[in-house]
Formats: sequence, structure tokens, C-alpha cells
Amino acid sequence: MDIPAQTNTILRETDAAGPAYQAQTALSDTQLAASGVDSVAPAVAAQPSPVSPPDPAPQVPDEVVEQTEALPQPVKVQEETKSTDIAHQSASSSGTISGLAGVLVKQGVVSEDIVKEVVGESITTGKQVEEILLQRGYVNDVQMAHAKAEYYHIPYVNLSEVGAAPEALNQVPEGVARRYQLLPFSLNKADKTLSIAMANPLDLRAVDFVEKKTGYQIIPHLATESDLDLAINERYAQSLSTEVTEALKDTTQANQKVVDVSQLGEVIREAPIAKIVETVLTYAMKGRASDVHIEPQEEKTRIRYRIDGILHEKLVLPRGVHDAVVSRIKILADLKIDERRLPQDGRFTFKMGEEEVDLRVSTLPTVHGEKVVMRLLKKTQQVPSLSDLGLRANALKVFESSVQVPHGIILITGPTGSGKTTTLYSALHKINTPKVNIVTLEDPVEYNMPGINQVQINNQAGLTFASGLRSFLRQDPNIIMVGEIRDSETADLAVQASLTGHLVFSTLHTNSAAGALPRLLDMGAEPYLLASSMTCVMGQRVVRRVCSHCATTYVPQKEVLMEVKEALGPLFDAWMAQQKGATEVQFSKGVGCEECSGTGYSGRIGIYEVLSVSEKIGRLIMERASDSDIQRQGISEGMVLMKQDGFLKVLEGITTVEEVLRVAEISPQDQPDMDLVQDPIANTNEQASGGD
Ligand SMILES: [Zn+2]
Repeated sequence: MDIPAQTNTILRETDAAGPAYQAQTALSDTQLAASGVDSVAPAVAAQPSPVSPPDPAPQVPDEVVEQTEALPQPVKVQEETKSTDIAHQSASSSGTISGLAGVLVKQGVVSEDIVKEVVGESITTGKQVEEILLQRGYVNDVQMAHAKAEYYHIPYVNLSEVGAAPEALNQVPEGVARRYQLLPFSLNKADKTLSIAMANPLDLRAVDFVEKKTGYQIIPHLATESDLDLAINERYAQSLSTEVTEALKDTTQANQKVVDVSQLGEVIREAPIAKIVETVLTYAMKGRASDVHIEPQEEKTRIRYRIDGILHEKLVLPRGVHDAVVSRIKILADLKIDERRLPQDGRFTFKMGEEEVDLRVSTLPTVHGEKVVMRLLKKTQQVPSLSDLGLRANALKVFESSVQVPHGIILITGPTGSGKTTTLYSALHKINTPKVNIVTLEDPVEYNMPGINQVQINNQAGLTFASGLRSFLRQDPNIIMVGEIRDSETADLAVQASLTGHLVFSTLHTNSAAGALPRLLDMGAEPYLLASSMTCVMGQRVVRRVCSHCATTYVPQKEVLMEVKEALGPLFDAWMAQQKGATEVQFSKGVGCEECSGTGYSGRIGIYEVLSVSEKIGRLIMERASDSDIQRQGISEGMVLMKQDGFLKVLEGITTVEEVLRVAEISPQDQPDMDLVQDPIANTNEQASGGD
């Protein structure tokens, strides 16, 4: 079903009046997938009433509507029409570039020269200008969406920033959403309007269809295709909001602005509230979430899950149920319900079928009410081996041989959440035999390891890293693990312990492995003592793994490949030499499936740099050399940098460039993770599950 040519002409005339500029939200991620919006489909008049379709879909009786076959076809414009049309628009006789390409030039995304070159290619190849711009990497899909939004006067929506209101989602069945690539995200009952995100907001039949079906006036928004696919998978596949909405229907509190505290006792025993909490926890377990955040905002409560280290907004609840939900959790965790002005900590166990999780609950009073964070700790957790964690080749060899030395200091560096604790557990697990006495000082103890004496830090009672370490030395240990070196006293004691024949493991918050040595000197460690006690320093981060269920390969953009090549240097050539017969480098990405909740990632793996403290590096420590001098020496002795290790894992299809760049550029000093800062548990501990 093609739009008659006449329609195009008429609407192009409308457009010739010049599209008004609309302010857009900031650019978001750079996920790459060609947008499916037809570049030359007619402009739609400004919001909120869309132009009626020129060839209205036949009336479909309501009872047939749920059947996919009965849905009208999504609008498709013939290829040929497109390419001539955009070419005509892009290179008009006056020499100035108009049309969509003109907007891209005006927005400073591409130069006129590039557009002219691409238009030329479009004429010879018959490919769309838009398609070529995207394929060549001149424009990414977010930039393209912004340009289209301006060109067609349709607001752009960033779905990763917009929550799913269950009442909006419930207006449109999943089949319809998938069929038309659209997602309802906001419902305004007063105005009788429903806002939907669409890959092709010019698909007037779809707009018309949803309008008839829901009875609401539709306000189409433009979203990138990749964002939409993710969001549709996430919001529908899990049906979390659907289940919670069912429970919400039964609660009388949903519509009430303020909950009477005296009645709270009854409300929280009500089945619906208990059901909401149970559903939220069940989905957290199914979705492999490590944390659940329940956050009151001015008008709503948002629920976010941390999955593979990234927060995902999963649900929006009416503000009216917030206090009841929080109180229900407080009862489970044995906290004081009426204490709302002070932070509280507690825990409880939750069972889903055979699986059991320990939940560590913390509450924090915020201006809009109490925020709750629940950390999920699986009870049946195995200690992963160092190679399971992603440590390999020379780095694994160096680290393993350092672990076998009976004395010295081994440090692991990285920001909070970079998996340091798990690596320490894994290393201790490897050397744990009945012949050695291992003691740990932790804050908090995350795994219980049989055969190891684990001590929990208690600052209030005066059991700190430093005081604990002092008493440890009287207990004749062979191996000591100190959760973190935070001050000069602990640094000093660690050096002393190693010099008196102990093997000491600890962590430090520095960006790079090399950076740990100047940092310890800054803390007051004696250069010559440090030089003789340090064995090795390992820097690390964790990246998400590409989901193995929905992984596909693709040829990376020229610029991206150049960046990878440049960072890897000779390592790239060495890798290519091993790929016999391969002429082209292919990367992997997950397209999103049920297994990974549509994120394209599942599980995590570490990226590492291991600096062996050689004689030459010892000399640099005594000279108080800078971290860059130490790093340079390390590289000359064969150290592979963390970012390089990450890019090698990209070449092997284990993770993506985006992931490596996301974590490799986190600096513990410069860029504190806001979520971690707000989150009292995550701020002090590290997740011990998965790759972390
Ligand atoms: Zn997947």
C-alpha cells in the first residue's frame, strides 16, 4: 500500500514553508541501527492532531483487532520515489542544501561537501541519502532522529530516560506495539491524550489505528529504532508493569495523595501491596538484578533495577502507594516503620521457587520521602576462578605467580563496582589450603569462605582496617587480606606486614595500576620499603558481555576501527596475524532478546592490566617517578593496558567498544557515579556476584 504520489507533492508544499525549529533533548547513546523512518514521507502538522491518512484503513471490527493479520500494513514508501525525492531536495538548483540533509547541515552534523558527495553516490547507486549517511558513519541514528524531529516538527523522545507508565502501556497490546514499532509512554486522562514513541511517526495508519482502538488522541513522538526495540522488549516482555497494575487496581490507596500513617498498618497487610513488593522482587531475581532502587519523586515513585552494573528504569508507581510499599519492605527487613527521618539498615530472605536470595535493605530519607535500596545476594554462589573472571594470557601468568610468592603486597585498583572484591576472593580461594592461615578484614563480609577467618570491620566499635591489621599480626597469619587501604596508617602496616614475611592483599581507589605506587608514596609510605615490598598491582574494571542468545556480527565504522587499532598498536597486528585468512574485522553486538531483557548484554567480564613490580620499577618508586613513567616502563616489560585488554575482548566478540569506553574512562576521583553516591550500600561495598 503506497502513499499516492499526489500526497507527497501536496505535503511537500506545506513543508516548503520551512520547518520551525523545535528544541530537542540532549543526545544520548550511540547505538547503531538504521532508522526505519521514511525520509521523504510527508510532513505531519504540528502536535497534537495528526493529519488523517490519505487512504484510511478499512474499519476493522473490534473483536478482530487483536489478531495480527487483521492489522493494516505499516506504511512503506517505494524505494525509487525516496531516492529521487531526497536527491531533489538535497541538491536544489540554487546550490543550497534543503530537506532533511539540509537540517543535518544546519545542525552541524555533516558538512555540505559530504552531503553533495553522498547525493552523487545516491544517484548512481539508487541508495537513499539517509541510508548512505548512516552506513558511512557520517551520522548516527540519534543525530538522524533529531534532524527528522526538527524537519517533520515531531518531538523527539529518549526512551531510556522516560519511564513506562503502566496505565499508558496497558492501552496498547504488545502485538500492536511490535507490529508498528511504537511504545505508549504517557497517558493524560484529563486531556484525553496518549503519547507514543514511534520509529516512524509518519505512519498515519498506525496513529489512526491506535487512536481508534484506545479512544485517546495520539501524540506521536520520534524515537530511534534501536531505542524502541529495546524499550518494547523491556517494557512488554517482562509484563512487570502489567502485573503490578493488576495489583494496583485493587488498592484503594493508589488514588489517594496522602496516606494516613495511622492506617498504614492495615494498608501494608493488604494483599495488593504485598503482591506489588513480591512481584518487584520476583522480577529482580528473574532479571539477574543486583540491586533494586525504590525512589520517591515529586509525583511518582520510580523503580530501577541494576542489571550487569547498569541501572534500568523498570516501573513507575503512583506516588500514593509509595509509603505503603516502603512500609511493607521495612516490616520484612525488621526496620522501624515510624522512623522516617533517619537512614536504617536491615535484611531479609526472599524465596522464589528453589532459589533463595538474601536482601540487604537500606533506607534513606530524601526530600520526597524515603528511598529504599535492596541489594540481592544469592545464597548459592560459587567463587569464580581467575580465568573465569576474564584474566588471561600474560596478565594471568604474572598475577598467578605473584600469588604464589609467600610474602609481599598485591594490590587491586579501580573505582567502586569494578569487581575488586571478587578478584580478591578468587585469589584467596586459589591459595586456601589447610597449611596456611588466612585472615581477612572486610567491610562488609560478602561471601563466607570455608577455612578462612573473616572479620567484619566495625568502625563504631573501633575495629578499623588499621586496628584490625595490628591485632592480626599477633595471630600469626600467613596471608592477610585488608579490604581497602584508605589511610597512611593502614598503608604503613601493610608494608610492615609484608616485610615481616606475610602475603598481603588489598585494594586502592586509583585509576590505573601504575597510579597506585605514587598514591602510596603520597600516603607517606617510605619509597625504599615500598619498592621492596610490592609484588604486583592489578588495575581492573568490569564490562558487560554481549548476550550469546542474540549476538550478531557487523563491520565496524572506519573511525571506530581506527580508534581500536590505534589503542592496540602492535597488539592489533599480532591479533590479525592469528586470524588466518580474515580480511575484514567484525565486531559483535546483541540485538536484544528475552534472555537479556532486550539489553543485548548478559553477564559480565573483567578487563585488566597487571603491573609486575620489577627491579626497574622498584627503582622508579625510589625515585618517586610519576605514574606515567612507571606505566611506560611497565609497557616496555610487556604490560597490556586495561583498555587494550578490553579492545582485544571486543575483537573476540565478547564485549563492545561502547562498554570498554564506558568503564575505561571512569575515574574514581573525577567522576563519582551519582547513583553510587546516593546509594549507601553500593557506596561502601562491591557486588560479589557475576563478574564483579
Ligand atoms: Zn539477548
